[in-house]
Amino acid sequence: IRIVVGMATCGIAAGAQKVYETVQQEIARYGLAVTVVPTGCIGLCRYEPIVDIYVPGQEEAVRYGQITPEKIKKIIALHLFAGQPVPDYVCQDHRGKQMMVALRNSGVINPESIEEYIAVGGYQALAKALFEMTPQEVIEEVKASGLRGRGGGGFSTGLKWDYSARAEGDQKYVLCNADEGDPGAFMDRSILEGDPHSIIEAMTIAGYAIGADRGYIYVRAEYPLAVKRLEKAMSQARQMGFLGTKISGSAFSFDLEIRLGAGAFVCGEETALMVSIEGKRGEPRPRPPFPAVKGLYGQPTVLNNVETYANIPIILRRGASWFSSFGTEKSKGTKVFALGGNIHHTGLIEVVMGTPLRHVIYDLGGGIPGGKKFKAAQTGGPSGGCIPAAYIDTAIDYENLLELGSMMGSGGLIVMDEETCMVDVARFFLEFTVDESCGKCPPCRIGTKRMLELLERITSNKGEKGDLEKLEQLAKTIQAASLCGLGQTAPNPVMSTLRYFRAEYEAHIEERK
Ligand code: SF4
Repeated sequence: IRIVVGMATCGIAAGAQKVYETVQQEIARYGLAVTVVPTGCIGLCRYEPIVDIYVPGQEEAVRYGQITPEKIKKIIALHLFAGQPVPDYVCQDHRGKQMMVALRNSGVINPESIEEYIAVGGYQALAKALFEMTPQEVIEEVKASGLRGRGGGGFSTGLKWDYSARAEGDQKYVLCNADEGDPGAFMDRSILEGDPHSIIEAMTIAGYAIGADRGYIYVRAEYPLAVKRLEKAMSQARQMGFLGTKISGSAFSFDLEIRLGAGAFVCGEETALMVSIEGKRGEPRPRPPFPAVKGLYGQPTVLNNVETYANIPIILRRGASWFSSFGTEKSKGTKVFALGGNIHHTGLIEVVMGTPLRHVIYDLGGGIPGGKKFKAAQTGGPSGGCIPAAYIDTAIDYENLLELGSMMGSGGLIVMDEETCMVDVARFFLEFTVDESCGKCPPCRIGTKRMLELLERITSNKGEKGDLEKLEQLAKTIQAASLCGLGQTAPNPVMSTLRYFRAEYEAHIEERK
C-alpha cells in the first residue's frame, strides 16, 4: 500500500503538512506496512489537500480531496482496514481527460527521491543521448519533434539549440528561465516542485547537444519550495553521476547553479535575465545579437523555460515522431495551463495542442460557478488578450490565439463570467505593466502610464469623447517603439478588449453624461 500526499505549495498552503504528519502517526500507531510519500502538484488545486491511496491489485489510486487530519484518520481506518474507499471524501478527477507529457511525473512520484525518478525512466534519455547519439543527432531529434518554446515566444527549440551549437565561443551556457511572473501562472513552479530531475536531465542533454559544460537555473526567490527541491535534486544527481564531472562514465561534464531572481517581471525577458545572472541590473538590451550567438557573458547561450525543458527527456526516450504525432500542424505536443478566475476547478491542466477552449472550460474546468455565463478567457498574461465567448470553440494553438489578438504566453488562463467588466480587466493588466516596466525606454515607461491614466479616467466614468482613439494611438506607438517584449506587448490587453468589448468602454464614457 502506498499513500501519496500532495505537497506542492498549493497543498501545503491548504494544510497538507498536518495531513501528512497525521498519516505518518496513524501508520505508526497501527504498525502498518505502508509507504507514505509526498508528491508535487496533482493539478486539482481547488481540492487540496489531496491524498491518493494505492492498493496492490488496483491499477488506479483512490483520490481523496479537501482532506483534514480528522478525515484522514477515518479514511485510514475504513479504507485500509475494511478495504472500502470512503465515498464522501473521494474527489472528482479530470486528469483522465488530459494528456500528461510535461506533467507526467508531477503529482505521481516523490520529487525528493532520485530513485523514484529513475524508476519511471528518469535519466534514460540522458544515457541515450550520451551513448547512442551525437550532439547533432540530439538537435535533429528535438527539431523533428516540432517542440516550440513554452515560455511565450513559441520559437522552435531545436533550431535555437542548433544556432548555439554552430556559434563560436570559448564557453557556452545552458539557462533555464524559471522566473515565472505572469499573474495567474504557476505551471513552472509546479513542475519544479513536482519533477525537478526532469529539468536537470533536460538541461544536461542541452549542454551535450550544444557543447556547454555549465548552466544556470534562474528561479524567482518567491518560490522557496521549488528552490529547495531543485537543490536537493541537483545534489542527488551529482552523487549518482548524472551531473558534474564526467557524467555517467562519459567524457562529458556538465554542472548547474541556481540563481535567485528578486521578483522583477522584466527579468523574465531573456536579455534582462542574462545580465541579472551576471550580477548587473536586470534591463533588456536590443537584439540582435541574439543570445544563441551572444548571450550570457557574451557567449553562445541556450535559454528555455521550465515547461519546454520538461518535454525534452520524454521526446528523446519516446522519439520525435511520437511527440509530433499529436497537436496541430504547426503546434505539436501538449500545453500546460493554469486555470484560474471564475471557474469551478481551478488548478493545472495539460491538454493536446488544438484542444477547443470549450473542452478546457466546461469538461476540465467544470464550467462557471453560480450558473453564470462564460464571457471571456484571458491568455498570455499582461502580454496577451481576451478570447470572447463567440470563439469558445477555437482550437487552442499558437497561431489561432495570435489570430484572435491574444497569445499562448506561458499558460495562465483566467476565465471571466458575465459580470466581469472588461475595461477593469484591461486596467488591471496595464497597472501591472506600469509597475513592472524597467523604465529604460520612454515609449514603455511613459506611454503605458498615459494609457493607464486614460483607463482610470474611463473606469471612474470620467472618460471623454476621443479617449478611445487616444488609447489606440498610444498603443500603436508603444507596440512599435518599445525596446523589449514587455513594452511591445503591454497594450495587448487593452487592444484586445477594445476589439471585442468596445461597447463597454463606450458605456463607461456615456455614463459620464
Ligand atoms: Fe524596459 Fe519597457 Fe523598455 Fe522593455 S520596453 S526595456 S521593460 S522600459
